[in-house]
Amino acid sequence: MTRVFNFSAGPATLPEAVLQQAAAEMLDWQGRGMSVMEMSHRSDAFQSILQTTLHDFRDLLAIPSHYRILFMQGGAIAQNAIIPMNLVGRKAKPAIIDFIHTGYWSQRALEEAQKYGHVNIAASSQASHFTSLPALETWKLSSDAAYVHLCNNETIHGVEFQFDPDTRTHSGKVPLVADMSSNIFSRVINVSKYGVIFGSAQKNLGIAGLTFAIVREDLIGHALPSCPSAFNWKNVAESDSMFNTPPTFAIYMAGLVLQWLKQQGGVTAIESRNIAKASLLYNHLDASDFYNTSVAKNCRSRMNVPFFLKDPSLDDAFLTGATQRGLANLRGHRILGGMRASIYNAMPTEGVQALVDYLRDFEQSH
Ligand SMILES: *Cc1c(COP(=O)(O)O)cnc(C)c1O
Repeated sequence: MTRVFNFSAGPATLPEAVLQQAAAEMLDWQGRGMSVMEMSHRSDAFQSILQTTLHDFRDLLAIPSHYRILFMQGGAIAQNAIIPMNLVGRKAKPAIIDFIHTGYWSQRALEEAQKYGHVNIAASSQASHFTSLPALETWKLSSDAAYVHLCNNETIHGVEFQFDPDTRTHSGKVPLVADMSSNIFSRVINVSKYGVIFGSAQKNLGIAGLTFAIVREDLIGHALPSCPSAFNWKNVAESDSMFNTPPTFAIYMAGLVLQWLKQQGGVTAIESRNIAKASLLYNHLDASDFYNTSVAKNCRSRMNVPFFLKDPSLDDAFLTGATQRGLANLRGHRILGGMRASIYNAMPTEGVQALVDYLRDFEQSH
């Protein structure tokens, strides 16, 4: 068996040690004679998995005690509706929802939020085709918005906020809601700058099926009467993420990923490694006349690196050669074309080095 270096944007590569452990425990989890998939979510065995996962989750991100960690289903795309359903009720109708419009995922979230309130685009980088981020000083935030939404890492456009914007100083007490689907656990964050941090698990936290929402306690309990019960954060919080049957195997996998992350030295250590991996790739792309990147240097994502061959007629040959070298899923998202290398926490440095070696060899032979 040979495993490839998988640059998929999501579902994405997992640490090999995690897959090994899941395989070893597949038929018999710790002497229970059954797999995690076959256990009752109310059993002691699963409860210990859930509690350990929540503990490590809180510990690794230093989440203060007045935030709840909710495990849900439906992905980040469902949260795009669940968030307004839980937050606009704090304001008179029609509630104002501020958006920082920085690419495909903030655009999708904004379209969904329009069903629940009046969306105000407080800042947008559309004029630059989403190759930059709007400077904080230019954001036109509403003082009485229900919340401000931003996408911390635009997985398709490859732009990332590598700091935690302090919107409280700009607009009083408007909570900042951040989609961190594709960069959670990749860098140290200051959770107290946010009202809500949410995302899907299948990029940096595990497998599809699990959604996380880190919610400040005072923002829980304001759901619209029409909000489905399973999507009401209050129900999820009060039942310890067991209002409905949780995605048990996905929670178990997230737990294994977080244990692996601890063994790597935690978020601080993985952040340094992520910076080194991203620099290795961007430096090579910058130094070459054969390849292009489009994103401004001060906001390049460390997780998702879109790049282009200057001669797009070579794209197919590039991808075929990459596959032959065991470098998989480099084709860019259809809306941008070109290539994209997703280099999440689980992508080893050797994978990025193998890509850089291939970039050099392909350039030389063409
Ligand atoms: C992948 C992704 C999503 C969508 O996740 P689903 O699990 O399909 O709902 C949303 N936002 C960002 C930033 C993503 O990377």
